[in-house]
Amino acid sequence: MELIPDTDPRLHLKCEPLNPRNPDFDLKSVLLDMFVLMREHNGIGLAAPQVGITKRFFVLQYEGESFICINPRVVKASKETQETGEGCLSYPGLTVPVRRPTVVRATYMEPSGLVRKHTFKGLLARAFLHELDHLNGVVLPDLLPPETETDVSRQHSGQTL
Ligand SMILES: [Zn+2]
Repeated sequence: MELIPDTDPRLHLKCEPLNPRNPDFDLKSVLLDMFVLMREHNGIGLAAPQVGITKRFFVLQYEGESFICINPRVVKASKETQETGEGCLSYPGLTVPVRRPTVVRATYMEPSGLVRKHTFKGLLARAFLHELDHLNGVVLPDLLPPETETDVSRQHSGQTL
């Protein structure tokens, strides 16, 4: 498994829901491969479209906790927000300041089909929202503030999600 190149139009598609009980591919092995790939790149999250699968799911891993989120939705987001430099495995070296809620209440399905509720905080909340953006075809370059578009810093100083 490899990351698709940043020129691949699949990164900009709105992904389709996934029925985890009846996927048309080997979901278990894809998920295993995604965790391996994410760890290889020291990422916190990886979304299916980043590996060319335009279905609504992603994986997260941070500080010993890992999550498989299928058909994820935000139920509630905190009013409190924070702006942090964000990186993306699909855009190596690009860091974009993105303001996001600090706490996110979310629902998603597990591979078994069980629906889960979880509250993500801090970096995991940020990662959840970053990966959810991927499922809607929204990628980091889309979040660049317009005035800095011609002056993109490619130095890596933020957190790679
Ligand atoms: Zn990303």
